[in-house]
Amino acid sequence: MSAARLDIERVRKDFPILQTLARGKPLVFLDSAASAQKPQAVIDAMVDLYSRSYANIHRGVYELSERSTAAFEATREKVRSFLGAAETREIVFVRGTTEAINLVASSFGRARVGEGDEVLITHMEHHSNIVPWQMLCDEKGATLKVAPIDDDGSLIVEEFEKLLGPHTKLVALPHVSNALGTVNPVKDLVRRAHAKGVPVLVDGAQAVPHQRVDVRDLDCDFYAFSSHKLFGPSGVGVLYGKAEHLEAMPPYQGGGEMILSVSFEKTIYNEIPHKFEAGTPDIAGVVGLGAAIDYVEALGLDAIAAHDHELLEYATGALSEVPGLTLVGTAPEKAAVLSFVLDCAHPHDIGTILDQEGIAVRTGHHCAQPVMQRYGISATARASLALYSRREDVDALVAGLAKVREVFA
Ligand code: PMP
Repeated sequence: MSAARLDIERVRKDFPILQTLARGKPLVFLDSAASAQKPQAVIDAMVDLYSRSYANIHRGVYELSERSTAAFEATREKVRSFLGAAETREIVFVRGTTEAINLVASSFGRARVGEGDEVLITHMEHHSNIVPWQMLCDEKGATLKVAPIDDDGSLIVEEFEKLLGPHTKLVALPHVSNALGTVNPVKDLVRRAHAKGVPVLVDGAQAVPHQRVDVRDLDCDFYAFSSHKLFGPSGVGVLYGKAEHLEAMPPYQGGGEMILSVSFEKTIYNEIPHKFEAGTPDIAGVVGLGAAIDYVEALGLDAIAAHDHELLEYATGALSEVPGLTLVGTAPEKAAVLSFVLDCAHPHDIGTILDQEGIAVRTGHHCAQPVMQRYGISATARASLALYSRREDVDALVAGLAKVREVFA
């Protein structure tokens, strides 16, 4: 794939919301890590499905249902190729990263983790990669172990390795931290875990919008991501699982679609991935995700990665010049997330004043309270960049922060 440069002004025209105003000023959207904006192609794909090809999937013998099913299943193939998975049956559609992790904890985790066992996570997790494991450990009498991070937000790999012990039954870690931006050396971490026979789930929610992911190269056992952070609709996500695991796992939810036959005496479950897709899914959402994947593939994931990286460097330089600003998360390998605090103002005040300028940043603990505890703070302001972000957005943020200083310093 060539690393041709993105034509940002052209890209921005694809996103209708970026042409709108906020508080009467041109919108400066710096909250893509929470949820990314949608290109017209995604919106159109969903409208088109509902307007011309919508019916419930997998069940109808009539033409409309066949078209709807074909559009839905075409996305499964797009996701397979996007993640570099071997087979479409390794791609399970879920509601999002959160549901994907809960599925693995409930099904794989329950079958595998027992009393006295351990689940290993890291100190930089989103709550959705903590709480399901905590619930599992509570239920089973197992222990949640946490690999520590450095002051710059990097995982301390030697400590991670030391925590991989004879009782470790599973590792769950983020590809990219949403609060710090740290990109973890996932391939190396998976290798270390596998050397001790421990399977690994990767939370890829913040990775897929910024870089190409190849699950076979990473060799992870599970990989989870959400459509809405990848410029697709909300309410849809993906769990990739190695076929051998998915086949061995019990179903997560029971209902229609996940069965081959049902009687009051016995139910025979469907093949994977359908065994994990009980009930009518978000059909248009899945089709929208397919359009989002087409969109990023057409721009080129290498071009997107190069753009995000260059803009991150620019933003890091620009924010470092702001008096009284401290960046939280400065790992050498970072994605386009800039968490920061100011000496003169609480993050919520920063967010409120920036909002008056039409600038959207996230403030709070970013669903990563243990990260905040690690740095002895309660919250940060976070600017996050995406393929449609540009230097002008960063300049507007810096100018907005000067206003915050005028008010509070
Ligand atoms: N993991 C990470 C790293 C995230 O950033 C998020 C969303 N903020 C999630 C998991 C949860 O994703 P969702 O809410 O889409 O299920």
